[in-house]
Amino acid sequence: MARFGMVIDTRKCVGCMDCVVACQTENDVPRAYARDWIVTEVRGIFPTLTTEIRSERCNHCDNPPCVHCCPTGASQVEDFGKTVQVTANKCIGCKACLAACPYGARFIHPTGRGSSPHQGYADKCTFCLHRVKEGKDPACVSVCPTHCMYFGDLDDPQSAVNRLLASRKHHTLLPEAGTRPRVHYLT
Ligand code: SF4
Ligand code: SF4
Ligand code: SF4
Repeated sequence: MARFGMVIDTRKCVGCMDCVVACQTENDVPRAYARDWIVTEVRGIFPTLTTEIRSERCNHCDNPPCVHCCPTGASQVEDFGKTVQVTANKCIGCKACLAACPYGARFIHPTGRGSSPHQGYADKCTFCLHRVKEGKDPACVSVCPTHCMYFGDLDDPQSAVNRLLASRKHHTLLPEAGTRPRVHYLT
């Protein structure tokens, strides 16, 4: 059984936001909300500065606090690809998972099951499993004009994502949180 993850080449990302627009279109993400976003981080001390541009989203963590804290089982690890998913009709909108996620990856869908946001369900990146099950890449990966994103099986030593991880330096976000993120950034 696969364990899906992403590898994103920060040297290739130009911050064009095509991935954000593609996700909003593909997944009908409401205006003013996002399942993915761009972060620009400047490191170092002038004049020795480096800039890293990252496309960020849910990390589909191997140790997901959003799943551990969910009182209803709405947040769960799906067998297919071992990704973290939300079953909307099980979600009571308590926001425990929003508080538990150290990456700010979740939001309460504003048009969930009623006019009050508190009646909405927790939404986030799904790794576009509906596309992956059809043999396609996630929408954000497929539209990137610089081809900086790669999606695949982290448990397959021969997969493109693992070959990239073996060939370049890389990091994950907030490893100190102990969540074991599955989105890796090549530096
Ligand atoms: Fe859960 Fe946040 Fe990890 Fe996604 S990034 S699996 S929402 S803790
Ligand atoms: Fe679970 Fe929904 Fe509460 Fe999140 S908001 S912890 S998915 S019941
Ligand atoms: Fe959005 Fe799909 Fe990319 Fe996740 S994998 S950020 S849901 S387009």
